[in-house]
Amino acid sequence: MLLEIEQLNASYGKALALENVSMRIAPGEFVTVLGPNGAGKSTLLKCISRMMTSSGTLSFEGSSLHGFAAHQVVGRGICHCPEGRRLFPELTVLKNLMLGAYLRDDADAVARDLERVYSLFPILRDRTSQMVSTLSGGQQQMVAIGRALMGAPRLLLLDEPSVGIAHRLKHEIFDAIRQIRDSGVAILMAEQDALSALRIADRAYVLEHGHVAHSGNAEELSRDDHIRQIYLGVA
Ligand code: ATP
Repeated sequence: MLLEIEQLNASYGKALALENVSMRIAPGEFVTVLGPNGAGKSTLLKCISRMMTSSGTLSFEGSSLHGFAAHQVVGRGICHCPEGRRLFPELTVLKNLMLGAYLRDDADAVARDLERVYSLFPILRDRTSQMVSTLSGGQQQMVAIGRALMGAPRLLLLDEPSVGIAHRLKHEIFDAIRQIRDSGVAILMAEQDALSALRIADRAYVLEHGHVAHSGNAEELSRDDHIRQIYLGVA
């Protein structure tokens, strides 16, 4: 197993945000975490990337992640593309992308990964010297995903990559995410657009009030009447 989570709990002060969450991700698997606002999706991703502390089992490639700081987790192969993108708007596209590779010293592989980001998102090649603040929201999301890829992840954490993005770019971004998965990178993607997420993921977990309410094969969940009514808005 690539990632194993058992009985994970996390809180903000006294407020419990995740309760007894268990999930697994196999190498190269594409898993999506669905659920309404405030269900705990972002909190779960933050616990995995150690931006937030938690209790319970959190193990990556057989070793516990507890005790690791966020930058050490990147070095182990987990890269997080956070909610709100967290880019440096006054730096160029290239500088933002290269910040994702700051721990690496394999210059040839870094150059290859940059080329791969540009072929996934060709518009970024055209805008490479432009300040990120001048890009559209969708293009900024591409930079954020590209920066996470520059860390050479074996597990990519994506937090709501389609939020607030125009329909056409959203399609391009989901298409690129599918290509990333096809290249062998495992993905854990939090997403509110359940219909789009279930179309491209292998499996899904549905969080409600901080616990796993449903889980299963993405295609089966998208045909489940209960899930369709509550999360997909279709009868
Ligand atoms: P969204 O789609 O709105 O981002 P989410 O499913 O990602 O929702 P989280 O952001 O993980 O949900 O929030 C889970 C719970 O933790 C919510 O009740 C939220 O109000 C609370 N929470 C999140 N961040 C903080 C914080 N910094 N301080 C206090 N409570 C927080």
